[in-house]
Amino acid sequence: MRWAQLLLEDRLRPGDVAVDATLGNGHDALFLCGRILPGGHLYGFDVQSAALSNTACRLVSSGVKESDFTLFHAGHECMAEKLPAALRGSLAAVMFNLGYLPGSDKQCITRTETTMQAAATALEWLKPGGLLTVVVYPGHEGGAEEARQLALWAAKLDARACEVQHLRPVNRAAAPPECWVFWKR
Ligand code: SAH
Repeated sequence: MRWAQLLLEDRLRPGDVAVDATLGNGHDALFLCGRILPGGHLYGFDVQSAALSNTACRLVSSGVKESDFTLFHAGHECMAEKLPAALRGSLAAVMFNLGYLPGSDKQCITRTETTMQAAATALEWLKPGGLLTVVVYPGHEGGAEEARQLALWAAKLDARACEVQHLRPVNRAAAPPECWVFWKR
């Protein structure tokens, strides 16, 4: 179940600006475009060039105009340098889907340090009422530590500035994916 999408669905409006911080195959990017267009703009990040071309292909073949999105071949930790400065404090949503891209290089995985840096930037760049979603995979190699650090960070955030929700299945044996939702006040 795509919980992150379900939670964002209602909150996004045409004209909003959103960021997909881990493009992968572009499913979240396409979802975001479906909510914020016409009038909005999607920015995306990935360190693999295949992710950029797969996403661009998916968007264009679904009828999204090239002028409606900007994809950066860069890590999400560069978000503050890459996004137009005027967007600081005005993003409606930022989505992260961590780990590696299924069916591609498993070495090309998100890393705890850069993930944490990027999540903090994302929160800073959201508008009041904006949402940051992070899907983390504790079952992946490295994912357990990423999940742990994310939980520690989330628990320390000032509740007056940001409300945090944590969604995870409680009746599955293995380490299932978890979804974090940060609502900026
Ligand atoms: N684990 C998910 C898929 C995650 S895709 C699942 O099972 O469905 C994660 C994407 O993040 C990959 O395309 C990978 O290239 C990308 N990525 C890795 N490090 C990144 C970084 N620092 N910045 C942006 N994207 C990154």
